[in-house]
Amino acid sequence: MCSRVVGRWKSGCAVGRALWATRPRWRRTVRVTSGFGCTGAVEERKLSDSTPDEGPRGPVATLRRIAFLMERQREESRRIEAFRNAARTILPLPEDEVRRRAEAGTLTELTGIGPSTAAVITDACRGVVPERLVGLEKTAGPLATGGEDLRSRLRGDLHSHSDWSDGGSPLEEMAMTAMELGHDYLVLTDHSPRLRVANGLSAERLTRQLGVVEAVNEHLGGSFTLLKGIEVDILDDGSLDQTPEMLGQLDVRVASVHSKLKMDAASMTRRMVGAVRNPHTNVLGHCTGRLVTGNRGVRAQSQFDAKAVFTACAEEGVAVEINSRPERRDPPTKLLQLALDLGCLFSIDSDAHAPGQLDMLDYGATRATEAGIDPDRIVNTWQRDRLLEWASARL
Ligand SMILES: [Zn+2]
Ligand SMILES: [Zn+2]
Repeated sequence: MCSRVVGRWKSGCAVGRALWATRPRWRRTVRVTSGFGCTGAVEERKLSDSTPDEGPRGPVATLRRIAFLMERQREESRRIEAFRNAARTILPLPEDEVRRRAEAGTLTELTGIGPSTAAVITDACRGVVPERLVGLEKTAGPLATGGEDLRSRLRGDLHSHSDWSDGGSPLEEMAMTAMELGHDYLVLTDHSPRLRVANGLSAERLTRQLGVVEAVNEHLGGSFTLLKGIEVDILDDGSLDQTPEMLGQLDVRVASVHSKLKMDAASMTRRMVGAVRNPHTNVLGHCTGRLVTGNRGVRAQSQFDAKAVFTACAEEGVAVEINSRPERRDPPTKLLQLALDLGCLFSIDSDAHAPGQLDMLDYGATRATEAGIDPDRIVNTWQRDRLLEWASARL
């Protein structure tokens, strides 16, 4: 999926330039506040370090690539974090120091770097592709087959999380990975206030996040856009868990049910239709709430009158989400077919909580292809401006 050159910094420094070729004069820093309240930095060279397909990468890009490939295969997050932590540790260091430590064998003196990540960094400094990465690259093809054509038409992703709520990475890392995947846009949709277990954002925190998104976009210079969004909880009475003023400031709003999934069908139908009729709602997220596999166990789908809900979606122009996460596979095939028959729009979303999961769109593209959905009815095949026009149409 990394076959085309993705994005440029304002300075004109193409993504794909090797880390060590980057000169200090190119270096600019955007300081942002991460979800944990500490200060992180996006440095130009971090992006510049990302080589798309061939040849050795710099150490930061090598560590990020390993983490990405492990993540898309759903390897254990603790092991993946080791590579992301190591990348974070060496990112702010002068390149000479990283090289010197690699040659002297003192990388492990740095916090966050152990023997295996040190070996990867050392190889990368020497221009060698580490064994670890060679092995992982063999798994780098599509995650699912049959949907490749549709997948190649997807221009972005409308549902993703950062460490501001329950995601594992800073929003800049999510944006960078989306660029590397060839997306034109990514909608950042962290959770809303009532979802406390997921560290949902209050109006105040969301306001701060929007400032950070603007800073990141300014730095990116327009070739890729991190869009402002939310995954807003659908409350028991069908209202949305954020103020209309805040919702109105966003580009795209995904509305989802996360609580009382077992309420009776009549109440659930009223609740979902209420949310769909709300002019702020653009996408109905993982509509049944089911879990079919994975470490959270399985969960039955919610009961509701799907015909009534999807009819409301079709009338309002709300997209029914095809949630690509393998543990969700939501909506189930029968409901997907019903939504198609009723004339709904769709959105194929990753619902990524980590950068590597952004690639899970492959699964959703395969399901949509099997269901025979016309690509033009899938809103994330649309160009950004058309998408934004649609998303603001009912406000
Ligand atoms: Zn959700
Ligand atoms: Zn989500």
